[in-house]
Amino acid sequence: MNVAERMSRLGTESAFEVLARARALERQGKEIIHLEIGEPDFDTPAHIKEAAKRALDAGATHYGPAAGLPELREAIAKDVAATRNIAISPDEVVVTPGAKPIMYFVITALVNPGDEVIYPNPGFPIYESVINFVGGVPVPIPLREETGFGFDLGVFEQRVSRRTKLIIINSPQNPTGGVLERDQLGRIAEIAAKYRIPVLADEIYKSFLYDSEFVSISGFPGMKDVTIILDGFSKAYAMTGWRIGYGVMPPALAEHVARLMVNSYSCTASFTQLAGIAALQGDQTPVDLMVAEFRRRRDLVVEGLNALPGVSCRSPRGAFYVFPNIRALRRPAGQVAEVLLNEAGVAVLGGSAFGEYGEGYLRLSYANSQANIGKALERMRPVLARLAGG
Ligand code: PMP
Repeated sequence: MNVAERMSRLGTESAFEVLARARALERQGKEIIHLEIGEPDFDTPAHIKEAAKRALDAGATHYGPAAGLPELREAIAKDVAATRNIAISPDEVVVTPGAKPIMYFVITALVNPGDEVIYPNPGFPIYESVINFVGGVPVPIPLREETGFGFDLGVFEQRVSRRTKLIIINSPQNPTGGVLERDQLGRIAEIAAKYRIPVLADEIYKSFLYDSEFVSISGFPGMKDVTIILDGFSKAYAMTGWRIGYGVMPPALAEHVARLMVNSYSCTASFTQLAGIAALQGDQTPVDLMVAEFRRRRDLVVEGLNALPGVSCRSPRGAFYVFPNIRALRRPAGQVAEVLLNEAGVAVLGGSAFGEYGEGYLRLSYANSQANIGKALERMRPVLARLAGG
């Protein structure tokens, strides 16, 4: 079959490909330590699972409204208002199966062929993929290690123009663990509000902060009307496989996004949405405990990586990824990741999977036990020593 031309412009997320390769090796009897995929290894808190079971028994097994169940949209509006300190009404909320569709829908709804979209690089690969898919022009902003992987504001100010249709930011960030400082957000907000450029703020990692309070760009002057918040349940409540997330945006755009829902998924699963209410309104202790454990793992993995040959690693301030520098190995990052998978049985990603400015780095997700992280570091040592020496 000949596929449509547009398919050649659609990228992918290599974490899923590496996961599939790692699983294939496991089927051959190899033991692999998974540091490639971005999902908490914790179980979904029991009270959330109970709410889903109750919902199933109560018959929440039917279609619902495309934009989400009114009671969940209300709960999300309240939660987003409280965590961002802004007023939100339920008609600004669209619930989707995972937060990821919000990227696809918002970019599809806003970007015409030839429009420019500013996005972080290295960054979540789906941004660039969908920008290209709809015929937009991706305009990367390099995130540099020297500045804690913040937005390079000098480059941002040069690249933002009348052609900029959308600005995408992500803080805390995947893949670097970087966090945008309040003054960086302020500068981006100033420009976005002045020229009324929509900002898609990917805030999915907002609960994973190790030394600062969460700051949302939506709270800066003039930003409420131009911000689209992307958030969800996957990371904070360890619900990646449930597929539930949401976007918060001006009602006029929310209507278009809901129409994209009607044209694709119809709606998000009803019992999952009722579990989402339990997640937002129930006990938040499991989130705090998980984040505390992630902090210990971060410290362990950063210390361990810095003791490995050819590797240097900054301590990231958020999310659950580290982005160690491996330039000293003088090899493409993808190749180093490949060797680590095949020879050390450790699955990691090459930084270039997140864009051209990710070359020279690896991405490790520390969503794995301290014991497995320790074991992975030990297994990586002889392989890296050989690469560093050769
Ligand atoms: N944004 C970022 C930056 C992510 O890393 C991810 C998940 N890897 C998502 C959004 C999507 O999350 P979900 O599983 O809810 O679709």
